[in-house]
Amino acid sequence: MPHLLRITRAQLSAVISHANLCEPEEACGILAGVYADGAAVVKKTYLMENTAHSATFYEMDSREQFQVFDEMRRDGMEPVAIFHSHPHSPAVPSQHDRDLAFYPDSLYLIVSLMNQEPESRVYRIADGKVEEAEMEVVEDVG
Ligand SMILES: [Zn+2]
Repeated sequence: MPHLLRITRAQLSAVISHANLCEPEEACGILAGVYADGAAVVKKTYLMENTAHSATFYEMDSREQFQVFDEMRRDGMEPVAIFHSHPHSPAVPSQHDRDLAFYPDSLYLIVSLMNQEPESRVYRIADGKVEEAEMEVVEDVG
């Protein structure tokens, strides 16, 4: 599985806007896409509800999640990344994030809003092990 997430500037700003909108709660969502040229290429961003409405963790609505997975499957896409925000902490996976990383094939994008400038970092979390991955922000994935 690639350790590189390719995302457009517009997609990333949609994710950051969603994070800002949900503040002080954590925001979450799924980045759907395909694997190509050794990268996880984002095609569509699903901005979802954090049903936990918490500032320190997130929980996706299982029905909404089911619909998103159904639509992705129909469109031939994969959940290439799961994203969530950290309103008051760095863009580093929490213990909770490690424990609840149920998608070892997906990358995890964390957007931190703790500083004036939002910080986005990508990780692979598998078997409780965290590895930082890379993110490439492009103008258009085509
Ligand atoms: Zn987290």
